[in-house]
Amino acid sequence: MVLAVKTIGLIGGMSWESSQTYYALINEQVKARLGGLHSAKILLLSLDFSQIEKLQSSEDWSSAATILRNAAKQLEAGGAECFAICTNTMHQVFDEVSGAVRIPGLHIADALGEYAAQNSMRRLGLLGTRFTMERDFFRDRLSDNYGIAVSTPDEPQRLEIHRIIYEELCLGEIKDTSREYLIEVIRHLTEMDIDGVVLGCTEIGLLIEQAHVQIPVIDTASIHAQSLVDFAIDRQIF
Ligand code: GLU
Repeated sequence: MVLAVKTIGLIGGMSWESSQTYYALINEQVKARLGGLHSAKILLLSLDFSQIEKLQSSEDWSSAATILRNAAKQLEAGGAECFAICTNTMHQVFDEVSGAVRIPGLHIADALGEYAAQNSMRRLGLLGTRFTMERDFFRDRLSDNYGIAVSTPDEPQRLEIHRIIYEELCLGEIKDTSREYLIEVIRHLTEMDIDGVVLGCTEIGLLIEQAHVQIPVIDTASIHAQSLVDFAIDRQIF
């Protein structure tokens, strides 16, 4: 039996703290499924997040899209058989990136939508950057394609979560005070009659785990990684 395991292309570095998570999760899942010394075939193109963050904060999505498009093309030229953008926020430019290559892009909100559908979740709380919580690209994909309604924290809370992401988590700083703050935000969201809370920023899983709260937690980095492994190991040739 020959396993036909595909090569996964990752556009990472946004931030590199969460790219490490993707790399580890994908390899752990390939090992769990295939056993022994099996590991994933991954091409990781890790961008300079300082450059990306400046374009985000000035809302220059078109220049950011150009950088990610070029990254996807490089991955394709290098032999990647799919690509993934390892951040929720930059899915703002997913369609532009996807349109530049022939290989499929695996959208993080599709991984989330499919997981939620399988688990009969229709109303979700969402934590992420201000861009992900406030702009349409994420919530519309969930509502249009999966019938999922999204609730977000109030504005002062959104600002503080955004600050924690950029000033702490993306710099690798894990603070108990910020964890307690997010647990409190999740407690408020739970009062909105939701089925689960989405960690809609790929670094929030560094701070919050299921054990910290009662309501089901869905970590987008984890389910996105899972969807990539599903894609990579989709058939066996005998
Ligand atoms: N990785 C984060 C996300 O999932 C935030 C960093 C970024 O803005 O790309 O949205």
